[in-house]
Order: sequence, then structure tokens, then C-alpha cells
Amino acid sequence: MSWNSTVTCSWCYKTGHNRRGCPDRRAYIANNPNSYEAIRQKADKESQASRKCTYCLRRGGHNRRTCPVLQSDRAFLQQRLSEARPSALQTLHEAGFGIGALVVDQYWDRLIMVTSISWEGIDCVGINGHDNDQIVFRGRQVGGPHARSAKECSASVPLRDLASTVLSATSKSGLKPPAGWADGTSFDESRWFDKKSSRDYFFREENHFSS
Ligand SMILES: [Zn+2]
Ligand SMILES: [Zn+2]
Repeated sequence: MSWNSTVTCSWCYKTGHNRRGCPDRRAYIANNPNSYEAIRQKADKESQASRKCTYCLRRGGHNRRTCPVLQSDRAFLQQRLSEARPSALQTLHEAGFGIGALVVDQYWDRLIMVTSISWEGIDCVGINGHDNDQIVFRGRQVGGPHARSAKECSASVPLRDLASTVLSATSKSGLKPPAGWADGTSFDESRWFDKKSSRDYFFREENHFSS
């Protein structure tokens, strides 16, 4: 629906605005505060104000798109990522982790050659404690009881003891994070702000937002 050409007002039948934005209707309501139309508008406004935001679950007349909590959480996440990721990168460098490195995946008992790094999925902001920070990547299984040599797989290894999981190091040239990674502007949107989910536990615990 195009604003200026096809909207027709169901109150005055002029084009260019709808019933909600109608100046004639507004004037009528102001002059007739006890009319059906005035009562109807009041009910509309109340139901709008009592609607729950799907992100913060508060009732306050805002929605997910305009949610102040979501805006605060975005800024908070970016700040935390920008603090955590450069030091994670330093750890990767020191361990010799990168494309071509041979890595032991202790959890699945397999040996993997790294083929690509899933930068967006590397958060390192200490969800449930920094021990759980994971380096996420793709690679080929080259050893272990379940190895299927040609098969590419997704894998992750804990950042905590990265040095002991890298068997054969790679050169530093295999480690180039994309723009937006180190400064925290690029992250997995569906992981942090999934449209179907309300505010993540991480933010409720860590970002003490007050409006
Ligand atoms: Zn109108
Ligand atoms: Zn909200």
C-alpha cells in the first residue's frame, strides 16, 4: 500500500491518510468526548499500551523494533565482544591455530584439519564462565575412531587449553578475521537476538539495564 496514492480514509473518505491519522476525526473526537468514536479511540490506545514487547516482555507501549532494552543489549554485546575477541585472537596466534592446523577434538575423540574458521560464532564473552568459550571452525576429520577422512564437519575446541589441542601449528597467515569481528559489530544474529525468542539469559544476568 502506497501512502500518498492509495490510502483512503474510512472516516472522511479522503485519500492520503487513514482513519487513525484523520484530522477531521481528531477534531470530531475533541469536540465529542463522549461519542462512540472517542471511546473507541481510547480503547485502542489502551490496548496498544498494554501490549507486551516480545523482547523484554514489558508492557509499555513499545514493540521489539523500538525496544530500549534491545538497543541497550546490542550496544552491550558489541562492547563485550570488542573486549574479548582481540585477546582470543592473540591466544589463537600463540597456539598456532589457523587454516591447515591439526587439532585434537577431545570431546568427540577425533583429529581434525582446520579448513575454515567460523568467526561470527566465536564470542568469548564468558557465557556460563570463560571455561566454556569455544573456538568454532570447520575442518576435515583425519584421524580418530570415527574418522571419515573426506568428510567436512563443524567442530569447536575450548579456548581455555587451546595450546594443548593444536598438534600441528599453522602459520599466522591462516588467521585473518573479517572486518567487524574484532570491534564486535559482526556476530551471529540468530544466536543473540533470535526474533522468535525473548531476551537471552546472558543479558538478564550481565547487562543491568534500567529504564
Ligand atoms: Zn480522514
Ligand atoms: Zn521491550
